[in-house]
Amino acid sequence: MADTKIIFRIMRYKPGVIDPPRFQEFEIAGRPDMTVLEALDEIRLTRDAGLMYRHCCHHASCGTCACMINGAPALACTTRIADLKTEVIHLEPLENHPCLGDLAVDVGGFFQEIDARWTYHRPCGDASAQRTPQGVDQLLRFENCIECGCCVAACPVVSSTPRFLGPAVLAALNNERRHRPTSQPLLLEIAAGPHGADQCRRHLACSRVCPAAVYPARHIADLQRDIKKLK
Ligand code: SF4
Repeated sequence: MADTKIIFRIMRYKPGVIDPPRFQEFEIAGRPDMTVLEALDEIRLTRDAGLMYRHCCHHASCGTCACMINGAPALACTTRIADLKTEVIHLEPLENHPCLGDLAVDVGGFFQEIDARWTYHRPCGDASAQRTPQGVDQLLRFENCIECGCCVAACPVVSSTPRFLGPAVLAALNNERRHRPTSQPLLLEIAAGPHGADQCRRHLACSRVCPAAVYPARHIADLQRDIKKLK
């Protein structure tokens, strides 16, 4: 792809300043293989230093740059503008998350519905034999989930059902019970609660948008099957 002009329509919002939210257009020269995150960096550096968006690793590990790209949740760092095949690219903050400003959302509530009895961290099987850094007793890891929030943004049940645990939490919960069988009864009890797996309506949107191949819908189906056995 040769350099070409690309128009970004970005939802701007600054509480009390750009309020209510509105789209603002920026035109930049799109380079071959340019990602949406690189375009955002360029817009911030050359057009508007006040543009708010979250980013960190730039390689799909941290999940922070997720936003709505042409209407679908995705990571800005791995979405190439050439692959979008649109002359105008719409960027909006992730749905189902409170917006702090522009594309930056508050992810603080992401796991807030997790039952306090459930310890999400677990020892890392692969790395436990390795030496830990000084002052660190054991290595802990999260599952494949990078906590980008894309599945939560895509889920129609999250938007319509207050306190639904949501696809990311239910997927993490199911992973946890696979790896730690002793936690099975407690985790299944949490999943079977009023805000748990039975709220899922099998839209499958979560699995379609997940950039880390977690396939949350598959985990939720696992949980629903085992919850049925309890009844
Ligand atoms: Fe993101 Fe997938 Fe984790 Fe959902 S399950 S938060 S889409 S990585």
